[in-house]
Amino acid sequence: MNSFEGPEFGVGDFVLLDNINIDEFMKNLKLRFDKNKIYTYIGEVVVSVNPYKQLDIYGQEYVRQYKGREIFERPPHIFAIAESAYKVMKRQVKDSCIVISGESGSGKTEASKIILKYISEVTNLSGKQDIEKVKNILLQSNNILECFGNARTNRNDNSSRFGKYMDIAFDFKGDPVGGRLVNYLLEKSRVVYQQKGERNFHSFYYLLYGASESELNEYNLKASDFKKYSFINQGGDKISNGMDDKQNFRLVNEAMKISNFDKSLIKTIWSIVASVVHLGNLKFESNERDLNNNPVNGSKHSEAKLTDECLKEIKIVSKLLKLDEKDLIKALTTRLIASGSRELVTTHHSVLEANYARDALAKALYEQLFSFIFMKINEILDVKNTVHATGLKETVIGILDIYGFEIFDTNGFEQFCINYCNEKLQQLFIELVLKQEQEEYQRENINWQHIDYFNNKIICDLVELPHKGIIAILDEASYNVGKINDEVCLEHMSKQLKDHKHFSSRDTNLGDKSLAHKIEFKINHYAGDVKYNIKGFIDKNKDSLYQDFKRLLYNSKDSNLKLMWPEGAQSQHEITKRPMTVATRFKNSIIGLVQNLSTKDPFYVRCIKPNETKTPTNFDYEKVKSQVFYLGLIENVRVRRAGFAYRLTYEKFLQRYKCICSKTWPNPRSGLPKDNVNLIIREFRFDNDVKNGLTKIFIKSPKTVFELENKRAEA
Ligand code: ADP
Ligand code: MG
Repeated sequence: MNSFEGPEFGVGDFVLLDNINIDEFMKNLKLRFDKNKIYTYIGEVVVSVNPYKQLDIYGQEYVRQYKGREIFERPPHIFAIAESAYKVMKRQVKDSCIVISGESGSGKTEASKIILKYISEVTNLSGKQDIEKVKNILLQSNNILECFGNARTNRNDNSSRFGKYMDIAFDFKGDPVGGRLVNYLLEKSRVVYQQKGERNFHSFYYLLYGASESELNEYNLKASDFKKYSFINQGGDKISNGMDDKQNFRLVNEAMKISNFDKSLIKTIWSIVASVVHLGNLKFESNERDLNNNPVNGSKHSEAKLTDECLKEIKIVSKLLKLDEKDLIKALTTRLIASGSRELVTTHHSVLEANYARDALAKALYEQLFSFIFMKINEILDVKNTVHATGLKETVIGILDIYGFEIFDTNGFEQFCINYCNEKLQQLFIELVLKQEQEEYQRENINWQHIDYFNNKIICDLVELPHKGIIAILDEASYNVGKINDEVCLEHMSKQLKDHKHFSSRDTNLGDKSLAHKIEFKINHYAGDVKYNIKGFIDKNKDSLYQDFKRLLYNSKDSNLKLMWPEGAQSQHEITKRPMTVATRFKNSIIGLVQNLSTKDPFYVRCIKPNETKTPTNFDYEKVKSQVFYLGLIENVRVRRAGFAYRLTYEKFLQRYKCICSKTWPNPRSGLPKDNVNLIIREFRFDNDVKNGLTKIFIKSPKTVFELENKRAEA
């Protein structure tokens, strides 16, 4: 191993360090980073440090170097991980998956694209047209999803604001024949709110700076009016140079065409994007006339009406979404409520409520659009629809690129969900890499020094346990319409969780004085302590969009838009009283994800962000160190080093390698497979590198496996 690199580049696998401790680990990581060696292994886990510059290591020449090779034959590279996952899938006809983790801006999405590109390069060598088409759509889908689901944030210019899991399905020859994408929780609050220096989703700027003058006319937009568009200008006026946006607009439209989005759908998509911009400029005022006529009612609840200036805007939105203008105004300013048994009553919104309704509509329109785009891509990638459907069960490689751990100055409901998801993935990593490994050594009676690690199950439980977890308490508050606000919900949490070691608020046993009373709580996550602000939790968890809007959009004359809103067909009376909350739906989807991943052969890419300034030269020692800690990399090296690279039952080993030894070929001696296996081992003097378990033989170094394989090939 590593012979291709030379000692000046440190070690290519952390397992080879003389001493396993954080200082040695960091020294090696930094040395390699400084020399542009951004990948380093821990066994079959690859640690990747974002280089923040283009490296010439992904071209054809590199693909050739890794194709068909074993992981330890070549210097560390993400291609080798992709190749391994591919080999498992193809040779062993087993599903595999690649889990990519790391914080925002650490290079996860780039890694997933590099993996996809590699797989695309090494498959369909005969150039079959339908398979080329599948590959092309898989690659192009990224452009579409990034346009609508990514945004510039202060941490990453192209930050994914949704989680993505992608299955690539392969036929028995190992060529991709389809795929399936799953979308996790889009950060839709961004549609109406952005921090200084950040942008709304790329799509808005692509449209504004990329569409032609005449197209923009159709959408009633003007690039020069940018400053007036309040849903997309909050980051400040220097957030686009226009150039990239223009180019990207073209690429996205191209990608949608390649992915069989028909013209009318593409038109609907941009119309929705434009309508959201216009919705942002709707303003409401209280209806004074009503106030005067009806002072009693009015003083309690002054009714909202659209300001005169934005009647134009309403016309535009109605036109873009093919809605009836009056219906739109009505849905924005009033609400139909089922009261009593059968009666429906119209109530008027206050200005505050109307603003809230407008924002909810904008967010929902965009979120539903995004889900619809996923669905469209899935439709065209569905193996049933691709020409290659054989009826045989396909084997898949799953690639997970999901938001990393987030600690901001203020952390809200979104961060809570995202960090919970990271706890679950860390739990999976522990289960697969740390726990199972050690348990197997115990089971097989292999001499083994137990390695301690922090098991974060206790934090997963804190969040997800039925009845007593944070989500359960939050749900209870969310169903308790009108009676419980965020503060009271936090009180309940504090009471029920007061003894929990990983939860604190001002009122718990661990009572933390630095937390704001009634507003903040803290979770000690595996990756660090995070203070959450409870404000908005209930609202975001309920995420109720008035049925009035659903009905409105379902009744659109735009058939694509109508398709996005099937729930609009329900009448007010049919509506279930307890729709599942956002947190619970998210929890269920993450539990499903983890279950799915645990049935596959996993490979890990652990991404590290070298600095906060997005620069190629700066290795921020402390920042990197904390990531190394919380990703559990040191424990990973220890377990790996104490462990064995390869293991097989005696039967399987004998079956595979009996041909390399005259003592076992053509016929093994009578006796146990274990004895015959050891004949082979002694014959080639591998004794020092193996240990005999109860049912399996364990081989320490990959080199031995490599030599065995070579001999087998020669035999
Ligand atoms: P994440 O998905 O983890 O938030 P990204 O994959 O979007 O992070 O990476 C952030 C930025 O870092 C990219 O836009 C790119 O500029 C840079 N980057 C990441 N990985 C690489 C790489 N392997 N080579 C060059 N630049 C990279
Ligand atoms: Mg990303």
